[in-house]
Amino acid sequence: MENRILPTTVVGSYPKPLWLSNPYGILFGGWRLRAEVLREGQDDAVALAIRDQERAGIDIVSDGEQRRDNFVFYFTRNLDGFDFAHPLKRRLRGSQREFEAPRIVGPVGRSRPLAADDVRFLRANTDRPIKMSIAGPMTIIDTSHDVHYRDNRALAMDLAAAINAELQEWASLGCDVVQIDEPAFTRYPHFVRDWGAEALNRCVEGVGTKTGVHVCYGYPVDGSKMREHGYEEVLPYLTGSAVDQISLECAAPGLDASLLRLCQGKDVVFGVIDIGSTEVEKPDAVAGRISEALNFIPAERLLPAPDCGLVLLDRTLARAKLKALGEGARLARFRLEAGS
Ligand code: ZN
Repeated sequence: MENRILPTTVVGSYPKPLWLSNPYGILFGGWRLRAEVLREGQDDAVALAIRDQERAGIDIVSDGEQRRDNFVFYFTRNLDGFDFAHPLKRRLRGSQREFEAPRIVGPVGRSRPLAADDVRFLRANTDRPIKMSIAGPMTIIDTSHDVHYRDNRALAMDLAAAINAELQEWASLGCDVVQIDEPAFTRYPHFVRDWGAEALNRCVEGVGTKTGVHVCYGYPVDGSKMREHGYEEVLPYLTGSAVDQISLECAAPGLDASLLRLCQGKDVVFGVIDIGSTEVEKPDAVAGRISEALNFIPAERLLPAPDCGLVLLDRTLARAKLKALGEGARLARFRLEAGS
């Protein structure tokens, strides 16, 4: 049964089995199965990801994003207005790393569901509460090349309307938590102020389930990890927004838990597992970090989690880290109940 206090969760992604995906294609695709058996392979991979989470004691589980070749393109490929046939090179979130960005050549819209079947499958394969994530407007804009709007705010609001329609459908299918992934927020705090927070609100407007936003400093690969801006620059906009939960990478940057003072009134998905380190956290240290956070956030509102998606780790390490998370949270609950 779900824990009422300190319920554990994940951010979303989980390593794919090597029989499913080429290790070099982790972030940009590389399926090893032929088209006619890919769906069945992904179903099996989701079942394994769910099982690993359940065994580790994770209360709110995801599908491990086993069907996503890329966490942005998986969605934008099926939105109106995107042209993947004639991409343009651009740098990834201000880093040196170049990639082929699809162009936005017309009005953005959602004329068909993007991942509704994924929600159905996840809902049918676990009794625990479930969560699903979708890339947010700013992160999508930062991973595309717009030649139509030439106006970030207008583009963001159309993207937000499309995302909103998708999230409403997820909620109606029994998704307990829907999350907007916005790693771009920490790169461009001025955009968050100008239009990012407004677009975020539009994404979750009228969605009849718990909503959240995930912000982080990106995957620790190829110099794309940058910490130019602190969370304090964006947190006031997130706390002032309509989302229920804020998911933060806190372990890797060793963030002072007092920063959580800026999250008053929100649930905090609190990163206690460093996804960039091959060392497995000790449950006692995880419990210690949780206790620090409890000085600023009540136990009902604190959700211990990894810093970010676990996709880059090998499966054995990911399993061990999830287990450390589950055990650390159990220890923290025990200490709370014992009043120590
Ligand atoms: Zn992240």
